[in-house]
Amino acid sequence: MISLIGLNRTQLSEALESAGVPSAQLKMRAQQISHWIYVRGATSFDEMLNLSKQLREQLKKEFTVALPEIVEEQVSVDGTRKWLLRFPAGGADRPAPVEVETVYIPEAERGTLCVSSQVGCSLTCTFCHTGTQKMVRNLDASEILAQVLLARHRLGDYPDAEMDPEIIAPLSGRKVSNMVMMGMGEPLFNFDHVKQALLIALDDEACGFSRRRVTLSTSGVVPGIDRTAKEIRCMLAISLHAVNDDLRDELVPINRKYNIAELLDACRRYPLAANCRRITFEYVMLKDVNDSLEEARELVRLLRGIPAKVNLIPFNPWPGSKYECSSKKQIGRFANYLMEQGFESPVRTPRGRDIFAACGQLKSATEKTIALK
Ligand code: SAH
Ligand code: SF4
Repeated sequence: MISLIGLNRTQLSEALESAGVPSAQLKMRAQQISHWIYVRGATSFDEMLNLSKQLREQLKKEFTVALPEIVEEQVSVDGTRKWLLRFPAGGADRPAPVEVETVYIPEAERGTLCVSSQVGCSLTCTFCHTGTQKMVRNLDASEILAQVLLARHRLGDYPDAEMDPEIIAPLSGRKVSNMVMMGMGEPLFNFDHVKQALLIALDDEACGFSRRRVTLSTSGVVPGIDRTAKEIRCMLAISLHAVNDDLRDELVPINRKYNIAELLDACRRYPLAANCRRITFEYVMLKDVNDSLEEARELVRLLRGIPAKVNLIPFNPWPGSKYECSSKKQIGRFANYLMEQGFESPVRTPRGRDIFAACGQLKSATEKTIALK
């Protein structure tokens, strides 16, 4: 069954044409269905009341707009929610179902959805739990966008939805107001599908996220950064984590392919090319590894000339991890130094640690699922 989730209006129109919808109707039908899926959050053709019964029946035979199955939902004491979602098998390249994690982080003024782009990750950053999971496969645009639609559906984030009083969400505005490609996987190794999903997320007539509220995070895939500037133009976050190549080679092994100098050159090009104000640099605080004041000074030197904000992420431990989080005091010193030098440098409050939903803690059991087959 082909999912219509993840198709833009042109592709929807092509799909409808292949199903025998008369050509004079294609544009209007595509628009109506797009509106139902992305704006109204319909999860079945039966809800699409401005389509004739006959057309709905015809569509049901070939297509689906169903959301993925929620295998597990965990809610943290701080209101963070983590879903384990299952996408079915199908076709030669999908021999088994796969599972991914999606995390919702509510704050007073915004609700951020942390979306996965791959099942596992082909990179092996030494401090990241996802990096210990074998790369299983890329998610397609439908699976990436389905995470957004599922969260909105589950949270009641549509105009006429009922609000579950148990759910913690921002005080006003949309419950899912922000989207970050910071879940499992390296989004720029799955560029075409991520692009397709983000363009629909950013489309005013589809999911309608503002460009300032959609952020793609990369470990530093330089050619993908230039393409993102030209083809997606969303906000960019760079997982920097080290200020010299020796250490970054170890922590973020893709550095051996694209070193710090090349990465920062791409970052210098990005704001102008993507018309965005500044870039976020993510820096995980690892005790006695990358957290000295000398390194803070070097960071300031490296970032000179780049409109940047630095997000300091306290290391989130996971079973078997070999690092410790820097002390509060040291993180404070590091942050203060950056601030004195004119960089906004918030320390990211770990969210959902109790349910393993914090940065770098995601890992699904898909390896096991596959092994059992
Ligand atoms: N693959 C992309 C997207 C994942 S984003 C990337 O690496 O940028 C997840 C963010 O959390 C990245 O900045 C990552 O480096 C960071 N991270 C990974 N493991 C972590 C951990 N254990 N504690 C804190 N941050 C971590
Ligand atoms: Fe992959 Fe990002 Fe984790 Fe590195 S930090 S292993 S790139 S998900």
